[in-house]
Amino acid sequence: MIVRCLLCHAENVEVSERISVSELAGLYGKMLSESIREEFEGHKEISFYQCGECDLRFFFPTITGSEAFYEQLQRFDWYYLQEKDEYNFAARFIAEGDSVLEIGCGRGAFAKKIMAGDYTGIEFSGKARSRAQEEGFHIIKETIQDHAKTNGRKYNVVCSFQVLEHVADVNGFLKDSVECLKPGGLLIISVPSADSFVSRVTNGILNMPPHHVTWWSDRCLGAISEMFGLDMVELDHEILADIHKDWYAATLTLNALNAALRRSQRLIDTSLLGRTLGRFATAVGRYYGLVLSDRNLRPRGHSVTAVYRKPGGE
Ligand SMILES: [Zn+2]
Repeated sequence: MIVRCLLCHAENVEVSERISVSELAGLYGKMLSESIREEFEGHKEISFYQCGECDLRFFFPTITGSEAFYEQLQRFDWYYLQEKDEYNFAARFIAEGDSVLEIGCGRGAFAKKIMAGDYTGIEFSGKARSRAQEEGFHIIKETIQDHAKTNGRKYNVVCSFQVLEHVADVNGFLKDSVECLKPGGLLIISVPSADSFVSRVTNGILNMPPHHVTWWSDRCLGAISEMFGLDMVELDHEILADIHKDWYAATLTLNALNAALRRSQRLIDTSLLGRTLGRFATAVGRYYGLVLSDRNLRPRGHSVTAVYRKPGGE
């Protein structure tokens, strides 16, 4: 079987690592206190690829989470944060009276930040959709593919925050997002950055299937411009957020320990030594986390936001 890049469809892709579904499902089971084995549709192994053309990193087979899986995750308070730096960054690009489409709007946290003339949110989770509707926002359950069929060239801004990395057909998602934009309109995409510490995390299961299926570097976000005929207006890395300080420090510590012991840093490591080092790194991370209270010492954080303009318009 020929595996092609999910974004540019090139065959020039290489496997960088293979992961065992039973180990991955085991780690999810511990976090959720419930088995999610059936999400993996009988697959025993998932490969992690990198595209030699556009630099997209992706998992294949592409296994995306069911609605039940997302309902389970919403039990955690941290799943839908009300405050994210990227919301404030993106809000600057929205003028009063703009018509805005947000794909994957969750509970409507971004909608509350902006003064759009006309706002539509797309959301598939029933619980999150009801919460956003209770706030009075216009929320629909429709794929971007279907929405684009009857809403071409309608919006000044199409945005999505922490959504693209959950999608299997990223090429179609971006094409339909661009289709919904008026000429001169802005596409705003926020994703976890593969050029940040997030790409060095071990056992970071939420950055793997069935949650995330793609990883995005700056090079890859740049490739989107050319592929879809867009101009990149800005590319913004958030500064390490307060809630990620300890996680960042623990990640660096574990990477340093593995390097010192000449162990390779893996996506999943459930060995006894790996777990012991992981616990030690988490404990040490709390101390380094204290130093990072000083915002001037903070590195690049979890998310990157790209703003593109569709050519045309005034
Ligand atoms: Zn590619």
